[in-house]
Amino acid sequence: ATPAATMVGTTLGAQNGVLFKGGDVLERAKDIDTVVFDKTGTLTKGEMELTDVVVFNGDGQPVADGGDPATDGGQLIAQERLSEDDVLRLAATAESGSEHPLARAIVNGAEDRGLDVTDPDDFENVPGHGIEATVGDDEVLVGNRKLLRDNGIDPSPAQETMERLENEGKTAMLVALRGSERSENRDASGGSPRAEGELVGVVADADTIKESAKDAVSQLQERGVDVMMITGDNERTARAVAEQVGIDPENVHAEVLPEDKSDAVEAIQDGGRKAMMVGDGVNDAPALAVAYVGTAIGSGTDVAIEAADVTLMRDDPLDVVKAIRISDATLKKIK
Ligand code: ADP
Ligand code: MG
Repeated sequence: ATPAATMVGTTLGAQNGVLFKGGDVLERAKDIDTVVFDKTGTLTKGEMELTDVVVFNGDGQPVADGGDPATDGGQLIAQERLSEDDVLRLAATAESGSEHPLARAIVNGAEDRGLDVTDPDDFENVPGHGIEATVGDDEVLVGNRKLLRDNGIDPSPAQETMERLENEGKTAMLVALRGSERSENRDASGGSPRAEGELVGVVADADTIKESAKDAVSQLQERGVDVMMITGDNERTARAVAEQVGIDPENVHAEVLPEDKSDAVEAIQDGGRKAMMVGDGVNDAPALAVAYVGTAIGSGTDVAIEAADVTLMRDDPLDVVKAIRISDATLKKIK
């Protein structure tokens, strides 16, 4: 492109809240044949809300009373049958150390219900899977099926509940509890039933799809651009969201670990596709960097903006179409 065309395009972009990081970016954008959207925070608002709390009390069999929580420093392990509020308070306490949108929604949901959410004594993020926290004498796990399996806890009793919530497009998370040596020893009947770790509940968060997401997808498709979605979320939730915005289920890449997102974009481009990756999160930065054009959207983190070629100032997926259109228009006019 001539310097004049570049200037026209860059200026036009800036006036529309589309910031191209240079003339070469502006030039590449018109050749995009595939747009890969991150799900959370990109197609959806990323404003999760707690929607469901379901309690699982083991196999449903009442178990021996292990102690009175009121006189036991409030250790929930001592209370054999948990209530909905117990499960939510446990999950929220575990998550209060995490900045993840899923975690924030659980904490806010618990506080909205007037529950007392304290800080965990210790916690560890397990990227792409969930969180492991120490709360008093107990260990609390909140996350996906893999998190539980990796901890030797069978998630299958909750499968039906999980599927129901996921089919509604919600992100369902398992809550498991593991008693420590101490709580085990405290149990006179010969060991805490939760010493091995036990599934105690399911919590679900829902996100809202951005108003213009569906239009953006259809306008891209009308231009002949293939639209895909990539997410760390599970297959069922991802497909439910894809369906709502008009993305072909075959174009959904779900359960992609944060560190694998860039590989997934490279794989998409291996066949010669010129892909634009659109994302907002720290997770997305490496994928933005390897894409033919990386686009950071709206409220995106600084890391994402830094890795991107294009920054969309507004939080509007339609600006993806605008970016391609501006590139197309300014460069064609010159020829
Ligand atoms: P996304 O790409 O949608 O932002 P992530 O890669 O961060 O998703 O997480 C993938 C999955 O791991 C989530 O759908 C959830 O099941 C689980 N997960 C991640 N972080 C947490 C957390 N703090 N609490 C519970 N579950 C989590
Ligand atoms: Mg995201």
